[in-house]
Amino acid sequence: MDNAKFTKQQIEKLKKVCWEFGIKLTHQRIEIFKELMAENNHPSAETIYRRLRRRLPTVALDTVYRTLATFDELGLVKKLHLMNERTLFDTNLKVHHHFICNRCKKVEDVYWQGFDDCNLPERMDVVGLVESRHLEFHGVCRSCLDVAGKDKT
Ligand SMILES: [Zn+2]
Ligand SMILES: [Zn+2]
Repeated sequence: MDNAKFTKQQIEKLKKVCWEFGIKLTHQRIEIFKELMAENNHPSAETIYRRLRRRLPTVALDTVYRTLATFDELGLVKKLHLMNERTLFDTNLKVHHHFICNRCKKVEDVYWQGFDDCNLPERMDVVGLVESRHLEFHGVCRSCLDVAGKDKT
């Protein structure tokens, strides 16, 4: 699927959801949404804000924050609270986990069907009711490893 078409479909979805929830779709909201969809690597509100300001100098960081929070409530993105990280926003709504690079802070999606399907530990019900499961892997990403490898020669 090419990018332009993908974005168009996403915008249609945004319009539909906003209409259903009675939320006014302002120009700024559309622009924030587009910027979000253009960035596949779990952007923070600050990242979106910095990119957006080039095209939309009047936009405020606070507006970006609030809009992203609204998108999260509408189920259009998922707010991520990774350990030691600022709040990030995930446009990938499929069940998945995350690998976080200790060096460049890049966040990569990880799929692990076996984990998703496996039985919970016994007596989990004593601890509480599990509503979702999310794994965080911390390490050094492939590109950082490659750079480190080249340095040694
Ligand atoms: Zn890295
Ligand atoms: Zn993700």
